[in-house]
Amino acid sequence: MAKWVYAFGGGTAEGRSEMKNLLGGKGANLAEMANMGIPVPPGFTVTTEVCTYYYDNQQTYPAELKTQVEAAVVQIERIMDCKFGDEKNPLLLSVRSGARASMPGMMDTVLNLGLNDISVEGLAAKSGDPRFAFDSYRRFIQMYSSVVLGIEHHHFEAILDTIKTDRGLKLDTDLTAADWRKVVAAYKEMVAKELGRPFPQNVNDQLWGAVGAVFGSWMNQRAITYRRLHEIPADWGTAVNVQAMVFGNMGEDCATGVAFTRNPSTGINEFYGEYLINAQGEDVVAGIRTPQYLTTEARKTAGADLPAMEEVMPKVFNELAAIRAKLEEHFTDMQDIEFTVQKDKLWMLQTRTGKRTAAAALKIAIDLAKDGVITKEKAIQRIEPNALDHLLHPTLDPKAARNVLARGLPASPGAASGRVVFTAQDAEAWAGRGEKVILVRVETSPEDIGGMHVSQGILTSRGGMTSHAAVVARGMGRACVAGAGEVRIDTRAKTMFSRGHEVKEGDVITLDGSTGEVMLGAVPTVQPELTGDFGTLMGWVDEIRTLKVRANAETPLDARTARRFGAEGIGLCRTEHMFFHPERIIAVREMIMATDEAGRRHALAKIEPYQKNDFVELFEIMAGLPVTVRLLDPPLHEFLPKNEAEMADVARAAGTDVSALRSRNTELHETNPMLGHRGCRLGISYPEIYEMQARAIFEAAVEVSKKSGVTVTPEVMIPLVCTKKEFDLLKEVIDGAAREVFSQRGMTLPYMVGTMIELPRAALVAGKIAETASFFSFGTNDLTQTTLGMSRDDSGPFIEVYRQKGIFEHDPFATLDQEGVGEMVQIAAERGRKTRPDLKLGICGEHGGDPASITFCQKVGLNYVSCSPYRVPIARLAAAQAALGARSDTTA
Ligand code: PEP
Ligand code: MG
Repeated sequence: MAKWVYAFGGGTAEGRSEMKNLLGGKGANLAEMANMGIPVPPGFTVTTEVCTYYYDNQQTYPAELKTQVEAAVVQIERIMDCKFGDEKNPLLLSVRSGARASMPGMMDTVLNLGLNDISVEGLAAKSGDPRFAFDSYRRFIQMYSSVVLGIEHHHFEAILDTIKTDRGLKLDTDLTAADWRKVVAAYKEMVAKELGRPFPQNVNDQLWGAVGAVFGSWMNQRAITYRRLHEIPADWGTAVNVQAMVFGNMGEDCATGVAFTRNPSTGINEFYGEYLINAQGEDVVAGIRTPQYLTTEARKTAGADLPAMEEVMPKVFNELAAIRAKLEEHFTDMQDIEFTVQKDKLWMLQTRTGKRTAAAALKIAIDLAKDGVITKEKAIQRIEPNALDHLLHPTLDPKAARNVLARGLPASPGAASGRVVFTAQDAEAWAGRGEKVILVRVETSPEDIGGMHVSQGILTSRGGMTSHAAVVARGMGRACVAGAGEVRIDTRAKTMFSRGHEVKEGDVITLDGSTGEVMLGAVPTVQPELTGDFGTLMGWVDEIRTLKVRANAETPLDARTARRFGAEGIGLCRTEHMFFHPERIIAVREMIMATDEAGRRHALAKIEPYQKNDFVELFEIMAGLPVTVRLLDPPLHEFLPKNEAEMADVARAAGTDVSALRSRNTELHETNPMLGHRGCRLGISYPEIYEMQARAIFEAAVEVSKKSGVTVTPEVMIPLVCTKKEFDLLKEVIDGAAREVFSQRGMTLPYMVGTMIELPRAALVAGKIAETASFFSFGTNDLTQTTLGMSRDDSGPFIEVYRQKGIFEHDPFATLDQEGVGEMVQIAAERGRKTRPDLKLGICGEHGGDPASITFCQKVGLNYVSCSPYRVPIARLAAAQAALGARSDTTA
């Protein structure tokens, strides 16, 4: 016969903690505690399979369920020595939901079930406290009526208010037994009127009504939304836990409380919790009375007057402390527990893995591993890689008030406050005067780099997670909120508007790049502390991972940051980002706008020394670690002069007149620059550009190798290739530059020439390209853009709609679309390696720093991932987890 009901209590249980899928988290752990000999009120779990059956069969139950439930109720009666619905010695039950994953507050609960006009008298006599009995009965009528019978809350409130007013009373606690009797009578009358039939007096009807309501609540709108947000499948179903009620509100020898076995905010190994004498669980949460500390030490530290549980109920406290130790040892993790004391007897109502901050997650995992409770591997698996982000950037003080002005995408984590400026030039000018600034732009372009660099944070009203602002801010470790569409920016007037507020230049705002919130005024922050635990964890992950981790970096500052965070090289140096220094940009514009090769070479000659020095610095910082330098890949529009003043500067430098330049500017204008004259297409049209860059790279490599004695092995990378012929033509340019430099300098160095794979065609013909390319780096920003045909700069708003409608689970520009773009990567990897088994494979799109995408990279067999410097520790941890297989599900 199918088993639908699992009983627990009295020192044994039919279930175990491993049976979460069947019994839900709460039910499985109640069973486990019962098996461990920990006192839990006896009860039973109706399995999640019944929930599935219920929805598959027009909301009916399996035939055997009734008898199984009846038998389980009898067992509770035996253990508790009382009887369900009895007139003298009634058993009361709680009925609670309990899904596989915790869904706090999303589904329904009924307490004090089993009370009716007869059993309430029994409870009054048995407890010797009629006030308690009638208070419980009215609570039950109210809860059952609202959860099961669908009667609105306000009806009950109105009745209670009338009776209180009539009696001149303010607080619920002022009501006497006689008052509660009156309330009960009035409630029942109202329910009968609303419902057209009396409040159910049959306790079995009550029980089935409550079970049905809990199953029904699996499909309420709140639960559906919660599941969507937390990616919980609807077919998991919920279990129903039915348990004997125990009361913490039956007198001064009763109490109720909640606790964590360690401090959930710092991770410190201390018993952390609160309790209330003579109260029910909801009183602790509701905040009507001030909860008291559990331990004397915590009370003293807080300077609180009300006594600790340790002082008031020392015997019960010691029992609780012993259970704390037992639970941690058994579950090998910090637990979040609920308990009730009824007449000096301790009952455990719940234990589950406790939620914790990133800092606590780190400390707890390391401490447990050092104490030998868990292995190093387990410790690594327990930490959510993205949570490390909180440890690497300043964060907003969680205690501070927030006056939220707008919300955008959480594009680059960290918190920052500063004065608003609306142009990159203003940012630099203000920062030059020692001001902290927040740069506010509709969107940013490479020209804004200088201003971005000196800003504390960046806010844009347009653009997605891979917009220029987002990518650059992450790279720089600046807080960034991108695509805050509700903010209206008037750059010319230097003001912005949002939610009825006007913010002018110089006003202070705060960004939370981890939540996407924009706040008025300065919200205090707390600085990150890279404690010893962080270093310990990083040491452990490096022993385990097989994927290498590099950084995307082009400035010395970024390169140093990358090394500090443990990067094993540079996977992407975007050379166009090096061209926006004020003293270079004019020459770069001159080059782009030149109409012939001579004109271009004239401009390139001015740029070359800068380029060489940049590479010298990078190679020195990276000290022999691999550095992949990507040759110029600018969508042209990013370089063209934007106004007459810029036009005049270029004209002066090039020795031409402005009107000629103006028409050249029009000529170069592209409708769709992302698919235009960019990447290697520029090198094909104007090989002298790549020739200059290659020469600068090799000159720098020779110089640094000679000076340091450490051989620099440059990896020269060609962007946006889609045919072998493009690659070969440009490789010849690069090889030519190498030959020239090596012969002039009397030194030969090893080097590699490879390509980015960022177009579907490149992925498909990878087997051919690999005949001459010695490495591939997957540029998954462009590969996503081109495979999906969705602009990386414009897709933010509609991708959000796609996510809401369930078309996309994630933003494909943040987490690799494994099914589509991932297949492109896999095809290219396989075809490339078939031609060249030792083909070096990496990824340098934004996905290189995304844990889920890193797991995919491990599976496909890439050699390394490359990500922005601040994500390097996250990628190292994610890579270790990928090497270990699936991440453990007991995480923060
Ligand atoms: C990419 O396309 O993934 C890439 C790394 O290049 P960029 O973002 O510079 O286009
Ligand atoms: Mg690209």
